[in-house]
Amino acid sequence: MGKNYKEYSIHCAKCNTYMLTYHKFGAGKGILRLYFAHITAPESLAALARSDYERISQVPNLQCPNCQEVIGVPATSKGKRWVFRMRQGFFRRKLHK
Ligand SMILES: [Zn+2]
Repeated sequence: MGKNYKEYSIHCAKCNTYMLTYHKFGAGKGILRLYFAHITAPESLAALARSDYERISQVPNLQCPNCQEVIGVPATSKGKRWVFRMRQGFFRRKLHK
C-alpha cells in the first residue's frame, strides 16, 4: 500500500522559520486548513489533537515562534473537526519527497 498523503513542512512567509510538519490527505492543491490530527511535528502542535481543550475558542492562534506572525486561526470544519484556518500568503509550504 502506498501512502495516501503528502508530507509538507510549513514555514513562516515573513521570516522563513520552520513551523510544523503536516500530512495532507485528498486531492486539493491548496492548504486552506490544517486538521489538528494531521500535524505530525513539533510535538507541541501534534499534541493538540489529544489536548484537554474543551472548546475551539480556547486554542491559541497558530503563530510563528520567531516573528509572532499569526499564520492560522482555530476553527471547526464542516465535519466538526478542529482545524487551523490558514491565512493565505502568510506561510510557505515545502513538499517532502
Ligand atoms: Zn516568522
